[in-house]
Amino acid sequence: AARLDDLPFENHYAQLDAAYYSRVEPTPLTDPELLHFNAPLAEELGLSADAARDPGFTAVLSGNQRIAAGSYIATVYAGHQFGQYVPQLGDGRALLLGQVRDADGGLRELQLKGAGPTPYSRFADGRAVLRSSIREHLCSEAMHALGIPTTRSLALIGSSLPVRRETLERAAIVCRVAPSHVRFGHFEYFYLLQRWELLKPLADHVIDDHYPELAGFPNRYAAWLTDVVERTAHLMAQWQSVGFCHGVMNTDNMSVLGLTLDYGPYGFLDAFDAHHICNHSDEGGRYAYDQQPMIGHWNCSRLLQATLPLLDDDADKAVEIANGILNRYPAAYTDRMMALWRLKFGFLSAQEPDRDLINRFLNLLDRGKNDFSRCLRALSELDAPDARLPPLRDLVTDRDGIDAWLVDYRRRLQFDGEPDAARRQRMLGVNPKYVLRNHLLQAAIERAEAGDASEVARLFEIMRQPFDEQPEYEAHYAAEPPPDARHISVSCSS
Ligand code: AMP
Ligand code: MG
Ligand code: MG
Repeated sequence: AARLDDLPFENHYAQLDAAYYSRVEPTPLTDPELLHFNAPLAEELGLSADAARDPGFTAVLSGNQRIAAGSYIATVYAGHQFGQYVPQLGDGRALLLGQVRDADGGLRELQLKGAGPTPYSRFADGRAVLRSSIREHLCSEAMHALGIPTTRSLALIGSSLPVRRETLERAAIVCRVAPSHVRFGHFEYFYLLQRWELLKPLADHVIDDHYPELAGFPNRYAAWLTDVVERTAHLMAQWQSVGFCHGVMNTDNMSVLGLTLDYGPYGFLDAFDAHHICNHSDEGGRYAYDQQPMIGHWNCSRLLQATLPLLDDDADKAVEIANGILNRYPAAYTDRMMALWRLKFGFLSAQEPDRDLINRFLNLLDRGKNDFSRCLRALSELDAPDARLPPLRDLVTDRDGIDAWLVDYRRRLQFDGEPDAARRQRMLGVNPKYVLRNHLLQAAIERAEAGDASEVARLFEIMRQPFDEQPEYEAHYAAEPPPDARHISVSCSS
């Protein structure tokens, strides 16, 4: 289709009972400007590459023009925020336009994030600032390119509208795209309101759209929830493997499809620090890097509690089933995590001492606060005649420690007997050279705030190929952050 309006929109969520959402009109946005367009995603959605040239594109995504077949709704959900139950949250600034079928036949929802207040905005303005919109637009695409399940972003729209945060900023909108935006918190809302009769239609909505093979089966809820738990465990392993810290793993930010959802004060590790806290507002470190897998588990327990009424009419039986499902998490996480580390360390087989070898490496990095991504990339280039990074032993502070470790590591590699060149090739395909570091984002944000969005476009292109050498960019974009940029702090303000 050449125009957004020509896409064949459906909206299954809006066909549910009105208890699940409110119909909301977007609030017009002043001087909307298309700052960046995600052409590859547009193509997946069936839009032509020049769809962004149609003035209607920007008008629709800024909320200034309606899609004829759209059914603008804000959905209601609750959630545990930093462990505390909040009975009503909801889409305070997101509007669902509808769904389209992508090139593979899957459903994808389009949401405007920042399109003005909704009944769930509480005291906030329903807007998003340019800074946080750039962060979401770029990181969701960076995660996708790393092979990590995530919501996407079709476009970034800027505006002259002033928005008050700690300082005065400008409003922006991203068009978020995901198979579904349903969160753990959607189920918690109806469970804790004791409107249990509303749980089934919501679960069936997710199952019908995304688990058609389960639709209609009597024990479909247990099968679906088992998959949610496993997907969540796998997602946590993937985050850990690239050093991604989410920052706000509240249950309202947890996707029932196991997608990375809600890009707020996230951060990629620069220096490896197991206890790294990326969210300045997270004083206790509840969502620190090394806590994420455990929090994913806890969040699944909240979802399973909220869905107990789906599992059995007998309460004891339901708890037993729920526990059985939840108990899949630890092994699902550990197995995937070990499999990912083995890939990243280039091990072909699974051997008993691998865990110890991997932990020793991470401890060396942690003690020296050495760069996580660069060290793994340098490990991938071990003994390569054309290595682009300094040798690993020059990147790790404890040189004796890494030398000793390398002796054991080389011995371990010999055990697999794979030719070095083949191993390096595999490792370079799983240890990214480019990650969306905070200082790179910060520079793109500052330039965009001054009216030049070209750095957003550049980061978008670089991060789309995180495993490629891209030698023209390595000096700056694959480097460690400069010393004065190491302590950029990001908060929940967005
Ligand atoms: P978050 O911390 O980003 O997960 O947001 C928590 C809740 O606050 C969600 O229900 C959001 O929709 C809502 N929210 C965050 N920022 C705003 C805003 N500027 N206006 C309205 N609602 C907001
Ligand atoms: Mg949120
Ligand atoms: Mg957020």
